[in-house]
Amino acid sequence: MKRYRIYLSPPHIEGKERELVKEAFDSNFIAPAGPMIDMFEREFSEYTGIRHCLAVSSGTAAMHLAIKECGVKRGDFVICPTFTFIATVSPAVYEGAVPVFIDSDKKTWTIDCDLLAETLERMKKERRIPSAVVTVDLYGQTCDMDRIIEICTYYNIPVVSDSAEAVGSLYKGRHAGKGADFVVFSFNGNKILTTSGGGMLASDNESLISHARKLANQARENVPHYEHVEIGYNYRMSNICAAIGRGQLSVIDKRVEQKRQIFEMYKERLKCIEYVEFMPEACYCRSNRWLTVILFSIKDGFSMREKVRAALEEAGIESRPVWKPMHIQPVFKGNECVDRGIAASIFMTGLCLPSGTALTESEIDEICDIIKRCCLR
Ligand SMILES: *Cc1c(COP(=O)(O)O)cnc(C)c1O
Repeated sequence: MKRYRIYLSPPHIEGKERELVKEAFDSNFIAPAGPMIDMFEREFSEYTGIRHCLAVSSGTAAMHLAIKECGVKRGDFVICPTFTFIATVSPAVYEGAVPVFIDSDKKTWTIDCDLLAETLERMKKERRIPSAVVTVDLYGQTCDMDRIIEICTYYNIPVVSDSAEAVGSLYKGRHAGKGADFVVFSFNGNKILTTSGGGMLASDNESLISHARKLANQARENVPHYEHVEIGYNYRMSNICAAIGRGQLSVIDKRVEQKRQIFEMYKERLKCIEYVEFMPEACYCRSNRWLTVILFSIKDGFSMREKVRAALEEAGIESRPVWKPMHIQPVFKGNECVDRGIAASIFMTGLCLPSGTALTESEIDEICDIIKRCCLR
């Protein structure tokens, strides 16, 4: 019998987090303000090369601020890939905008740039140019940002990069998201860098980040009393969370190496199953391999995926189907999707395997043995 459960992507704390949290406690900045936040923002900006950073309470909050700063209003259209987690889309919906979904590129699983270009051309003719394009760096795989910027610059549409899953990923040697008008990161407990819960909004545009900072702090005007000329939010990050974040950031490159190694270990052990395929890596990307994702590319891949998932669950091992595409979510029934069936087909047979960086080699052996027992007979 198993004595513990293996989770999909648990936090991994072994750096300076404890020490920094103690320092935060000792300074008595137990508040959504304090020196750890300033330092975390500065260090994160140095790490990513994105000039201005705003630490917030979640990735979703960062996305909401990005959508606000793009000027998205009620009735506007916002383009998003269909293959993602719902937090990519919900902030646009908070603002009353209408998401238009775009399918994935079969080779990378990220947004299909040809479909994006076609869709923008069509929407321009229909006089319904979207007010933002949101892209997603899926499971750490960056989208083709240069191409997206080129397309969106032509139509003069701002780009928001949802890089929530991609801290530490590189696109053509630069950090994921760099070059977009806004970049959103998440430090939720399951992400490669966690603050227990938190996020970051990053941009090379100082005035936009400065205004987002105001919105994140109840839109307080910069005067001694409480003065408000617009409505804001309480989206600030806690100084304690920022201390955890600084500790996590100090080992991020090591974590990326570990995630990539885990991917390779799975690949080596499962290569004997000819119909198990691994998420491809785009030629322009060095993924952080946030989660190792496999596909069961046989006729009834769905049943095999479910069989493996159930067998792992039985052994106390968490695995999960990949994100269910937005255009087949009940809440988006009737929303427009430029669909070629790619994301939906990956959803049917894709499985995320445990990818925590504290996973041991013998745990990976155990997981792979269970998968092999299901598949090789
Ligand atoms: C985790 C995640 C988010 C949201 O981040 P939270 O910090 O959980 O609010 C947004 N988009 C994607 C793609 C994510 O994976």
